[in-house]
Amino acid sequence: MTTQSRVNQPAIALVVITDLDGTLLDHFNYSAAAAQPALKRLRKMHIPVVFNTSKTCDEVAGLRHELDNTDPFVCENGSVIHIPKSEGGGYNSEILGTSYVQILKVLHHMHQQGFHFRGFNDMPASEVAALTGLPQDKAWLSKKRAASEPIIWHDSDDALTDFRNQLEAAGLQLTKGGRFYHVMGQADKASGLAFARDFYQHLWDQPVKVVALGDGENDRAMLEAADYPIVIPGEKQTLSIDNPNAVTAPRKGPAGWNHCIIELLEKLQ
Ligand SMILES: [Mg+2]
Repeated sequence: MTTQSRVNQPAIALVVITDLDGTLLDHFNYSAAAAQPALKRLRKMHIPVVFNTSKTCDEVAGLRHELDNTDPFVCENGSVIHIPKSEGGGYNSEILGTSYVQILKVLHHMHQQGFHFRGFNDMPASEVAALTGLPQDKAWLSKKRAASEPIIWHDSDDALTDFRNQLEAAGLQLTKGGRFYHVMGQADKASGLAFARDFYQHLWDQPVKVVALGDGENDRAMLEAADYPIVIPGEKQTLSIDNPNAVTAPRKGPAGWNHCIIELLEKLQ
């Protein structure tokens, strides 16, 4: 690449891929304020920050705007990839898992069999707001789904095992996030990481290293696939990751995010 290239080459061939809730965003107030010093430093170095979240495209759009993020992003636990178009706004999107309509069909069948659970499709926005702590206008955006369904489980542990087995027989899977279980197709947050690695290797025409940050069980596959996994301490428990390079942040949420990214950049520079 020459200096005339329209692609901003990063100071280090590094991509940051991150969970949002409880990781870049505070678990309670959804603020990323404590991570601003690290985000500013990454932007200055042209290092992309790829959001990889259980949130929907419409929920992430507002946050990308607030944080002035223009990088590709991955929604609904690795099920959907969105690449911003270079002109005219909007995204090119691709579903890696199973479509929402197909998932709802299977869940309808599960309700008919007598399993007790509620999904976002069964709930008014006010109920989603009460469960997530989101304001109602943002809760409504979280109901606009493409390829996964968050559910609250109201049945026994034995029934959950049965439920999981039946989902698997239908080609779906059940993963546990910070607040909900997620029913989705055969994709996970590691699918999002693989996409980000390929995308930037192609764009920059060189091998890239990936730093991943997450706090929930649904982040495990992404963290295990990263070159530099950073575990953010969870609200209830902290993940133990099968990756020799894994570090655990000394603080929860965006403060831990900030600390570990700055520490890593200083180590790599
Ligand atoms: Mg999380």
